[in-house]
Amino acid sequence: MRKCADMKYHFAAKLRIYPSSEQKHMIAVNDGASRFVYNRMTANDRDLHAMKKAAGMCPAYRERIAYLEQVRSSKKELVNTIPFLNDKNVDSLAVDNAIKNHNLAWKRFREVPGTGVPGFHKRSYEQSYQTNAHYRKDAASWEDGNVHFVKRSAGEQVPHLITLPMLGTIRFRCSEKVLFMLISHKEDTRIGTITIRRDNCGDYYAVLQISSDTPFTESLRKTGTCVGIDMNLTDLYTDSDGRVIDNPKYGRGMKKKLAKAQRRLSRMKEAAIKDSRPLSGSSNYQKQRLRTAVLQRKVSRSREDYLQVQSKRLVESQDMIVSEDLKVKSLLRNHRLAYGISDVSWGRFMELLGQKAALYGKEYLKVPARYTTQTCSVCGFVCKGEDKIPLGVSEWVCPGCGSHHDRNHNAAVVVLQRGLAIKAMQAG
Ligand SMILES: [Zn+2]
Repeated sequence: MRKCADMKYHFAAKLRIYPSSEQKHMIAVNDGASRFVYNRMTANDRDLHAMKKAAGMCPAYRERIAYLEQVRSSKKELVNTIPFLNDKNVDSLAVDNAIKNHNLAWKRFREVPGTGVPGFHKRSYEQSYQTNAHYRKDAASWEDGNVHFVKRSAGEQVPHLITLPMLGTIRFRCSEKVLFMLISHKEDTRIGTITIRRDNCGDYYAVLQISSDTPFTESLRKTGTCVGIDMNLTDLYTDSDGRVIDNPKYGRGMKKKLAKAQRRLSRMKEAAIKDSRPLSGSSNYQKQRLRTAVLQRKVSRSREDYLQVQSKRLVESQDMIVSEDLKVKSLLRNHRLAYGISDVSWGRFMELLGQKAALYGKEYLKVPARYTTQTCSVCGFVCKGEDKIPLGVSEWVCPGCGSHHDRNHNAAVVVLQRGLAIKAMQAG
């Protein structure tokens, strides 16, 4: 079978898994090993980065640099310095994936301007590590490898058990849609990376990256329409047909409740530190931590659900969707805007549009965001300098042609015009 990267269609199946205490222990060990390797490599590379900067002035660094380069390039060297990686519970692929992720972070640091030096992974109540499914060359279905369903009895209709690398057989549950996809879509399909995760509420998940040469779903019916969208703070977005989709701001509604829970939590933490009790042994603190985590998860789940529904609706009703290419990270640096933006989650919405468009045979296009709000959609006049439309002004009149504009609607039209111009250029 071909490699995942060479296949055309990709899909991520998220399963809730119910590991035994032995399996939980294994997951904890592999989480620890992955983080340890990642941090060891990061320390090594941060050292190397700093020394190389200073090496010109200090020739004595050369020997140390040569040693660090050697650790960096050889996995054996690394494992030899960390004996517990030879533990029988450690998945060697988890170590490989940690190294791979570390290399990716450094590659991004070198290639993408403005990215900071990669930092360390902190220990937290969450756990996760990545492993891979294995296949022989003649495998034809995703079930021919070391990940497959296990039947408890011959007549069983719906599978409840799945075998995962190293961990063995685990009971699982997932949405009907995903289950149907897994059962029906087997030929020419393989599983790539598997992420095993425990969230900070203590629930376990396995996310399987599945790739195939045949599409996972049928393409949606073509509608012959396209739309530009302008994402803003007050609503989720305004589209070029003038429709406004509001933003329920789940975060703000739950904010009070969450803030109260967090205050209690920090009081308990202070009390524990004062009595020099370890947090891990303080049962009231742990109970409150769990309550807070469950509340946070509730907020993020309802937000995710809303974004899923809205992005599906857009992809269903349009053939092409155009949005600005927003750099959410740099917007988040503006603290006055930060809470509102992270509450709306534009970044996630753009990600979902991309995924769904690809899955259902539609198109999602991002265009440069420069001056979209400042450009007149009728005559193309760009409001600059004195004419610049300030933040908070929702309606304006174009100094070029006198057209009256709604700020967000005009921006959405400009976005669509830019998208269509790009398409026309690609075609001709
Ligand atoms: Zn104009």
